[in-house]
Amino acid sequence: MGGRGASIGSSTGKLYKGLYVEGSAGAFKKSADKIVQGVKDVLKDFGFNNELRGVYFSPTGTLMRGEANASMNGMGDLHISTRALAKGEENSNGYFVSDTFYGTGTHEAGHAVVNALLKNGVTINPEDTNKSKGRINLERATARSKGKLEKAIIKEATKRYGSNPTISGYGSKDVKEKVAEAISDVYTNKNKANPYSKVIVDVMKDINKKKFRPILKVSKREMGI
Ligand SMILES: [Zn+2]
Repeated sequence: MGGRGASIGSSTGKLYKGLYVEGSAGAFKKSADKIVQGVKDVLKDFGFNNELRGVYFSPTGTLMRGEANASMNGMGDLHISTRALAKGEENSNGYFVSDTFYGTGTHEAGHAVVNALLKNGVTINPEDTNKSKGRINLERATARSKGKLEKAIIKEATKRYGSNPTISGYGSKDVKEKVAEAISDVYTNKNKANPYSKVIVDVMKDINKKKFRPILKVSKREMGI
């Protein structure tokens, strides 16, 4: 299904070239473009352009993980709430590292970078050899849902930095949001970013460059088998 309003690139412009687009931002296209630009800038810097597959607009948004403006699933689908776009950039008094639409995009890209690193940058349950493709996918999906890579990133960043300070209110919700907020901080606030956010991003870059390879453990109980 999903044919209604779907297009590949076309009239939505260069920013959306090659992406599956469903729905429309309507009068708020400029705001939506800032979100998409934020996602793309981070992914490009990591060499993960293909991690953004489609952009879906809807009034409520598919607000996974309780995110207010946008969300990104493990398949590279970015969902943008047109209701949130209509509200504009709201000042949350530091609850997020950035209250801009661009900052929303860089935050969502943080989740996408983790997904990409999970495919290629980590070892999961090395004691199990000769795993089937289905088992590998199950381990990876479980590691993703449990935030296993984010925990390993924060553990390494804490070691390098000497402590594990707060980045933002939303980043304190859980380890997944902390990593996404660190990415958003560095790519949105640039040299004004929290130095600890930079260390977190450095750890992620080292995983991408194969300089650091976390070993993740996923139990059968966690996998539900
Ligand atoms: Zn998030």
